[in-house]
Amino acid sequence: MPEGPEIWNTADSLRDALKDQTITDFHFAFDELKKYETKLKGKTVKDVEARGKALLTFFDDEHVMYSHNQLYGKWMVRDNGQQPDTNRSLRVAIHNDNHSAYLYSASDVEMLSSEDVPKHSYIKKLGPDVLHPDTTYNDIIGQYQSDEFQNRKLTTLLLDQGFISGIGNYLRSEIMFYAKVQPQQKLKEYTDEEKEALAQATVKLSQRSYETGGITNDPEIVEALKRENAKYKEYRHFVYKRTDNRCHKCGSVIEQDSTGGRKIYYCPSCQLNQ
Ligand SMILES: [Zn+2]
Repeated sequence: MPEGPEIWNTADSLRDALKDQTITDFHFAFDELKKYETKLKGKTVKDVEARGKALLTFFDDEHVMYSHNQLYGKWMVRDNGQQPDTNRSLRVAIHNDNHSAYLYSASDVEMLSSEDVPKHSYIKKLGPDVLHPDTTYNDIIGQYQSDEFQNRKLTTLLLDQGFISGIGNYLRSEIMFYAKVQPQQKLKEYTDEEKEALAQATVKLSQRSYETGGITNDPEIVEALKRENAKYKEYRHFVYKRTDNRCHKCGSVIEQDSTGGRKIYYCPSCQLNQ
């Protein structure tokens, strides 16, 4: 399941291919959306943004396309007219003179008016999107300090898109490691300093992953490990999926905990002995 950094990377590649270009052809596979094909031809794409795990494509006639890939959906961008070699079923295609953007396999696609976007059932429940350009550090620390969430366990809260949107399973473990906090507590049990460390880690590692294409580990550690011919999966993260391997910072053995379904990974020395 892609997390915020991957969704924003997809938004960027779609924006690069589509922004300010006149739409020469538009295809929807869904009968109820067919009527928009002619409406959107000749219009331009104003912007593409992520909201949680959904994408919004803004058109200059104030229509907005909402798409959520769920588990299987995938966007692909090609030079104009080139079609990817895939067996996936095509749901949406947007063509301009230079590029073609294809959405495959997603079933959750809607057309909205711009004023309906904040009222959309998925979007209205989202907390601040950590990578959205309008989101500030104060928005993020505000969530960690809010009374609304204090009785929640941090491990479940970090996956709740209503708390902060854009965090998924790998960012969750990495954020707790970077903030040097133990994982199994309710939010109210963390000190003010720990909440600040969590907010900083949330912003820092989301941006780092967005910029590096998914790497959360410190750049110096990554470089050192690459010189030793380490593989991507060995240098990519601090703790995520590194059970029984040594912590990049202290050399202790990484452990995992699977209470509540999805596994969390942590370093007992860096996180439990604070
Ligand atoms: Zn450690």
